[in-house]
Amino acid sequence: MKRPIYFDYMATTPVDPRVSEKMQACLGVDGIFGNPSSNHYYGWEAHEKVEQARQQLVDTIGAAHPREIIWTSGATEANNLALQGALRFYQRKGRHLITMTTEHKSVLKTCEYLATQGYEVTFLNPEPNGLLDPEKLKQALRSDTVLVSIMWVNNEIGVIQDIPLLGELVKKSGALFHVDGVQGVGKLPLNLSQWPVDLMSFSAHKVYGPKGIGALYVRRQPKIHLEPIILGGEQEGGLRSGTLPTHQIVGMGQAFQLMQLSYGEETARIRKLQDRLWEGLQPLGGVWLNGDAEQRIPHNMNIRFDKVSGESLMLALREVCVSAGSACHAASTLSSHVLTAIGLNATQADQSLRFSFGRFTTEEEIEYALAHITEQVTRLRNTSRALF
Ligand code: PMP
Repeated sequence: MKRPIYFDYMATTPVDPRVSEKMQACLGVDGIFGNPSSNHYYGWEAHEKVEQARQQLVDTIGAAHPREIIWTSGATEANNLALQGALRFYQRKGRHLITMTTEHKSVLKTCEYLATQGYEVTFLNPEPNGLLDPEKLKQALRSDTVLVSIMWVNNEIGVIQDIPLLGELVKKSGALFHVDGVQGVGKLPLNLSQWPVDLMSFSAHKVYGPKGIGALYVRRQPKIHLEPIILGGEQEGGLRSGTLPTHQIVGMGQAFQLMQLSYGEETARIRKLQDRLWEGLQPLGGVWLNGDAEQRIPHNMNIRFDKVSGESLMLALREVCVSAGSACHAASTLSSHVLTAIGLNATQADQSLRFSFGRFTTEEEIEYALAHITEQVTRLRNTSRALF
């Protein structure tokens, strides 16, 4: 059976064959399978691979030192480590942190947990375009604010926060700045040696690497301290215990290097595909783009179709796989917290679907999907006329 078209690259991406090839070489008996912490030949060769991958990350994100990269199991863990680790370490400075209501659940849930542990959290609302008004941040910053956590690119609506500008404000106040960089890296230029950012979370599986591996960037100049949240064999300088998964790490390093080489071209190509889909949908009428129209990545379009339930449309689109809200809480029947935060009511949020594109999306797929979406939206609008 022919598989449907994949338009859900914000949920995850397939592993690039050039990545899986390198990973494969770290698994079998003839491969580099040793424990990178072992003090013998097999350990040393695995250690070397891990350090090569660390350097690949350093080079692509513009870090200053390999020890600024801490391997984690993904961005969920990296976000947990950044927030819990910093708040616990800097308790003497204060117990206040600031974030946004449109963050990923791995940040929001961690903040909610910290609030039960005697910390105080300010949740800032975005403007209706999804962006944070810097004035709101300025007003929320206090002398006891330890950390501010703001995502670079929103995973549901694709808007880009002005991280350099927001970071300047945070730095002026003396607080730490954490950025969930998952959906920005590989799509936009990044140079952490010049950005006012102390901590940044990354995940491999959004950029054609494997699932189950990520990293936290932790600045060394000035040195940022964190309390570990996982205790054990003291790998990663004691910050993150657990045997390093060589194959996953090698995959992440390779994926980051590849995307650094190709993101300019890739982004330009995807922008054309997105423009074509958007323009092709216009004759339907009653089609709205959620989030800022300019300050956004071209890889994502969160679209609201008047008079159509997103859930019904998703089911009707048998030949195109898209997402209602974020895949991370797909089991939830609640309206998207992001769409609600930018001011959509429950009906409008439920009329919205996320289309996301990537490295393997083709023009033919866009044309095919356009015809299919047009047909299904028209059909649903006709059949459900009585309901609206
Ligand atoms: N942050 C953002 C913005 C994300 O999109 C995701 C993945 N949905 C995560 C964090 C979590 O990453 P991981 O799957 O690596 O835990």
